[in-house]
Amino acid sequence: MKNPIKRPPPLKDTHQLRNSYPKGHVLFHERDERDCAYIIEKGEVEISVQKDGKRIPLVRLSEGEVFGETALLGPGPRSATAIVTEDCEVFRISPHALHDRIMHLDPLVGLLMSLLINRYRQWRYVPPDAAAAMNALPQARENLKQVDRADDFLRALNKQREVALKELRMAQEITQAIEQDQFSPHLQPIVSLPDQKLVGFEALIRWHHPEKGMIPPMEFIPVAERTNVVWHLDMLMLRRACRVVQEIQKAAGDIGRKLYVSVNLSGVHFDSEEFATQIDSIVKESHVDPAQIVLEITESALMGNPTVAEKVLTDLKKQGLTIALDDFGTGYSSLSYLHRFSIDILKIDRAFVQDIHRNSKSLDVVRAIVSLAKTFNLSIVAEGVESRNEIYSLAGLGCNNGQGYFFSKPLPIDEVPGFIKESIAKHG
Ligand code: C2E
Ligand code: CA
Ligand code: CA
Repeated sequence: MKNPIKRPPPLKDTHQLRNSYPKGHVLFHERDERDCAYIIEKGEVEISVQKDGKRIPLVRLSEGEVFGETALLGPGPRSATAIVTEDCEVFRISPHALHDRIMHLDPLVGLLMSLLINRYRQWRYVPPDAAAAMNALPQARENLKQVDRADDFLRALNKQREVALKELRMAQEITQAIEQDQFSPHLQPIVSLPDQKLVGFEALIRWHHPEKGMIPPMEFIPVAERTNVVWHLDMLMLRRACRVVQEIQKAAGDIGRKLYVSVNLSGVHFDSEEFATQIDSIVKESHVDPAQIVLEITESALMGNPTVAEKVLTDLKKQGLTIALDDFGTGYSSLSYLHRFSIDILKIDRAFVQDIHRNSKSLDVVRAIVSLAKTFNLSIVAEGVESRNEIYSLAGLGCNNGQGYFFSKPLPIDEVPGFIKESIAKHG
């Protein structure tokens, strides 16, 4: 039986391998079968052609320059010879590596790249004058289909086309949906363990699509992030969260002043220093106490541009806001990040909580996170608590807060006042 597991490409193909070559080494000869492109890291390479038995130099290339790139377009003979003229180091880029990278690009960029490469390849197979080219194009396309690597590119292109179109449509729909007020938060209670006293809510975005019904965030947030619409969604959620804080106060009186609402922020905001100013103006406009707003970010938000992220977080803290590190344990979970950035709360990812009784490693992870939190004087929220046993274990380990279906699923806003009243009556 055929092995259903797709084998990874050979290790040598997964990287742009770097090699050193001495002066005089021939990297490839004219008419050799082409297999890869090269980027010069150090040294010098001469490109030349043979004419009437003589070598005619065309160009000398040095650091940072690329040669042999037609190999990335498909098989065929080299049109020139490449000889090392000064000891050099070069990176080798295979068509396979390029193809893999195109597939991991932003879908629109990937589509355009694949299209341009493919178009260039087609035109190389056809005569230069326009009319003849038009006639020759169908044959050229046919020829290309015969070539294995060509098919690889066509497959990449078709896949990218599908994804890019889907994303473009969705980005357009998200923009319209913002204008038509189709987004609103659902609120999931966060409680203290083990007494189950309410401490706050997490605001989770919901898209009420007029035809498709409720669309979960994981289906549109990644698209919104790639197209930058997420800025508008997150600011909209922050405004709503501020309004919820006011409604909570109406429903819960004095106790309401101690409850917080936490908002998820996409990592893409953290490379702009203006971000903190924008948050500040929204919170000030709403006249809520910033101490009642928590901003949830993930570690990856801090990784892109740590210097700017540090400045943004420091500014947000000066405004009196609280910062939570979401999905802790799944990313880098680096000690140096906890040390460097102003964090107040660690949210332990659901994966560890739900495995706490099945997998001793998850238990160890939770224990380690709790001990980290103690060292750095941080509060903890365990996510995805679904059973009483989990509460006992988490509380026993020293997790002070939790959220999850055991306490409540995320609630529509109009159910929040009722939940608060019931919770106060039951748990104080
Ligand atoms: P998250 O921030 O980790 O949110 C927790 C997710 O776990 C929510 O999914 C919540 O409904 C779900 N959950 C809570 N308790 C339980 C439980 O006991 N069991 C299980 N199985 N699931 C539980 P949701 O609402 O689908 O949100 C998914 C993700 O979307 C969020 O993960 C967050 O990363 C993102 N997201 C949600 N709202 C926003 C937003 O306003 N802005 C941004 N940028 N991202 C958002
Ligand atoms: Ca969250
Ligand atoms: Ca989370």
